[in-house]
Amino acid sequence: MTATIIDGKAIAARIRAEIGARVTEMVEKHSVRPGLAAVLIGDNPASQQYVSMKRKACAEAGIESFGFELPADVTQAEVETLIHELNARSDVNGILVQLPLPPQLDESRILNLVSLEKDVDGFHPINIGRLAQKGRDPLFVSATPAGIIRLLEEANVQFAGANAVVLGRSNIVGMPVALLLIKRDATVTVCHSRTRDLPAVIRQADVLVAAVGRAQMVKGDWIKPGAVVIDVGTNKIDDPMTKSGSRTVGDVDFSAAKEVAGAITPVPGGVGPMTIAMLLENTLRAAEMAFGETTR
Ligand code: NDP
Repeated sequence: MTATIIDGKAIAARIRAEIGARVTEMVEKHSVRPGLAAVLIGDNPASQQYVSMKRKACAEAGIESFGFELPADVTQAEVETLIHELNARSDVNGILVQLPLPPQLDESRILNLVSLEKDVDGFHPINIGRLAQKGRDPLFVSATPAGIIRLLEEANVQFAGANAVVLGRSNIVGMPVALLLIKRDATVTVCHSRTRDLPAVIRQADVLVAAVGRAQMVKGDWIKPGAVVIDVGTNKIDDPMTKSGSRTVGDVDFSAAKEVAGAITPVPGGVGPMTIAMLLENTLRAAEMAFGETTR
């Protein structure tokens, strides 16, 4: 059996085109564009690259983006002042604080300050808390978990009663994905570094979300035949056959897993493009809410 490849790149391109059309509608109706403020602190090259990709995607969708680059030794008070200013600006609908932050900064306090209505990253504790509560919904779900659920929907997963295994319990991926799957009535097992007999747990999974950050850790014979596999991992490995000498792989041994799974995301081209599409969607929704339009 060869799995269906869930093409995150194509799905994300479609969503971005839809967002672009909705932005055009908004400009025609209100003569304003949604705006995203991206706060980048320090000189972490990966963070710089993520922010630049996000700003480029904004531009393509017609969303205004405002960049705020602060030095690595910025004080807590300076960051807090900026967040207060951004909360007050009417041309800023979404605020993105690129993580990780330098060690002198109190991440939790900073994320707490972002206005709930502008929390397009979904990291505000109230948004996370609502995700964990029955009958409540967050205003925004963070982009990577939202993108993962969208990919599962595109793969026509029947969530109710499915055994879902989430490998990883981080605040930004594993835990919110697990909560979203519970909301959709899946039976969810969350695995982490202390889980015993990981292969046996994963073999029960109708749906597997791997977000562990370890190159090709999940082997083909850990996968239940027909399972839907979402590989979140982005790991660089050496590859002398490539020009750069390295390539990016996921947390799943793709070539073996695709022979067993029913559907699987590739790395790259799976979750990554969806993360950006979902951030744009959240920013557009924030703007629609600000203009009193119905949310979708
Ligand atoms: P973290 O390092 O924050 O979390 C990793 C999780 O994996 C932890 O819960 C950890 O367990 C668990 N873990 C680590 N080693 C093992 C092991 N040997 N066995 C079982 N569990 C283990 O990572 P993130 O959640 O931030 O990211 C995960 C991956 O997803 C990374 O490769 C990252 O680059 C990628 N990513 C991709 C995104 C995208 O848009 N494509 C966005 C965000 C992340 P414990 O809690 O016990 O320490």
